[in-house]
Amino acid sequence: CVCPFCQRELDEDSLLDHCITYHRSERRPVSCPLCRLLPNESPNTFDGSLIRHLQVSHTLFYDDFIDFDIIEEALFQRVLDRSLLEYVNHSNTT
Ligand SMILES: [Zn+2]
Ligand SMILES: [Zn+2]
Repeated sequence: CVCPFCQRELDEDSLLDHCITYHRSERRPVSCPLCRLLPNESPNTFDGSLIRHLQVSHTLFYDDFIDFDIIEEALFQRVLDRSLLEYVNHSNTT
């Protein structure tokens, strides 16, 4: 995929790392390049920063980069998403 901020070629699993390193304070509204790869997901459906969206919606790629404050916020917004809940519970027990 390509970084939506600087158009740099990146692996899917390095996009969040790249964004945290280079675009942490970026607040431009961009469409998510990972969502674009998934035919069932529609881009431009998230609020706030791309970094937060990546952490909330694409955590399967990013086991090492989960910010639990952000996950808790996501749970509050998506209390019906049981798969995410189970994921957090599982992570807390390890
Ligand atoms: Zn970039
Ligand atoms: Zn996305």
